[in-house]
Amino acid sequence: MSHPTRRDALTVFGATASAAIAATLARDTGLVAAFGQDAATAPRAPTFPRGAVIRTLLKDLPPQALAGGPVLFHEHLSMHYPPQVKEHFTDDVAMMIDEVRAAGKDGIACIVDGGHPDMTRSLEALKRITTESGVPIVASGGYYMQRTYPPELAAKSADQIAGELAREAAAQRLGAFGEIGQQGGVLTDDEKKVFQAVAKAHARTGLPIFTHNAYTGTRPTATPVPHDAALRQLDVLEAAGAKPEHIAIGHVCCLDDPKAEVAQQLAKRGVFVGFDRVTIPIVPDAERVVMIMAMAEAGYADHVLISSDFASAASLKKNGGAGIGQASTFFGPMLLKAGMSEAMLHRILVDNPRRFLAFVPK
Ligand SMILES: [Zn+2]
Repeated sequence: MSHPTRRDALTVFGATASAAIAATLARDTGLVAAFGQDAATAPRAPTFPRGAVIRTLLKDLPPQALAGGPVLFHEHLSMHYPPQVKEHFTDDVAMMIDEVRAAGKDGIACIVDGGHPDMTRSLEALKRITTESGVPIVASGGYYMQRTYPPELAAKSADQIAGELAREAAAQRLGAFGEIGQQGGVLTDDEKKVFQAVAKAHARTGLPIFTHNAYTGTRPTATPVPHDAALRQLDVLEAAGAKPEHIAIGHVCCLDDPKAEVAQQLAKRGVFVGFDRVTIPIVPDAERVVMIMAMAEAGYADHVLISSDFASAASLKKNGGAGIGQASTFFGPMLLKAGMSEAMLHRILVDNPRRFLAFVPK
């Protein structure tokens, strides 16, 4: 399977960006319906708690400020992964600035970077990218998975780690904890401790959490990941005090589950469900479309988050790929083609990630 190319990408939001922004602002103020719907059937603008902000690297934004386009909640703009790689395409910061600027032209309103120090994410690089591209970026904190943990983590308690994560988040203007992962089908003891620590750090700071699951789709593997791995992550986070409405369980779109049964069980428990590896052929995108339509049918559209976990040089625009905005420009139109209304797609790409990211600073 090949990567989506530039030619495959349609600008759903970019081409009519100013019209879309105007329509959204009008809709958010309740005056006019957006996307050709009449007022009676138009979706209600999302509401946010008083004082809620989305914490981007440069400033805290009211969630309404990002109503003009899709917010991508899990991408990578700076990292070295696997950790032993010496060079990574994101090392070329000037090139990444061009790519993020192009995503902005595709209508993307904000990008969440899912890296942190144990993925060699450079905060300085992210600051340059957001400053020079003009696209707001949310940076994240936390630890990735067992094989990337620094050795000293083993001797620390969950409370110690939570304190460090909360302090680091405040000092560095981090806007989320993520991606918090597991490398196999079952959490290791250290991974469980990190999940508990992140839940505690969330309770102290209010910052949202997004996770990584190791689902391998239809690929045969020596050690299959149990279907319920995503649910077990949620068990640990909830038991340690995290609130479901601030949690996105990630990579559920890499589970071969066409009826979206696990995704629906997650949504029923109040969390966001990450369809955040679109364009990565672990599961065909066509099956992901079926899963998301099943979620919508079951009344769970407000729990769906879409992103692409951007990690492939072939997906860069300069290499003929669909670019960093591909979750919107390539995958979004697939949902419309499957019969989703523009209003619902707008809710999923524009409103849901803002509801996920917005928090009231403590
Ligand atoms: Zn990722």
